[in-house]
Amino acid sequence: MQDFIDQANKNGVVLLDIGRCQFCGADYQNGVFACMDNYNNGLQLLDFNNFEHHVSRFLSVDAHALQHPEVHGRWSNHFHLTRLNLILDKKQTWDYKTSPLLSDYLNHYKQNRPNEFLEVPKPLDRGKLTAKDLTKATSSYECIEQIKKWAEEVYHSWSSNHSIVSQIADGFLDNKYNRKTQGRKTTNR
Ligand SMILES: [Zn+2]
Repeated sequence: MQDFIDQANKNGVVLLDIGRCQFCGADYQNGVFACMDNYNNGLQLLDFNNFEHHVSRFLSVDAHALQHPEVHGRWSNHFHLTRLNLILDKKQTWDYKTSPLLSDYLNHYKQNRPNEFLEVPKPLDRGKLTAKDLTKATSSYECIEQIKKWAEEVYHSWSSNHSIVSQIADGFLDNKYNRKTQGRKTTNR
């Protein structure tokens, strides 16, 4: 909890604790505080022992983060939007081992680009669906479909940055592929 408050302070954003969430518009009584507290409530129908449900988890984390960029560090936007590009546009399969590889790639990438900022869409203009809408789902299938729709809406709302993140995603895939190839060569020797 403290983390997101610190980040908001750093970004000079005042957090409101009444009414709808000021960033995504989710219909709560205690604003963004309720939005952060209840974010997981909509994921209860997912089964995280089932590998096929993992991608929904990643998509939901990305969608929620990109609806609340004011309470994250700015490079988080690069991470989450690039991952959406890889999963939604480039149809990459994703698992828990792939995320740290993307983080490593971005850590290296950002060193040469201290002034690269993504253009952040206005609050309440980052997709109509929110994490709260997931709580209306009555089956895991419905929940998965809803998360996909939510992630697509959020991804679309960041469209002015798609060309940047698509290039990052291509660089990441090249790097991953080359590393794997090198690894294989070494192993075969
Ligand atoms: Zn929110």
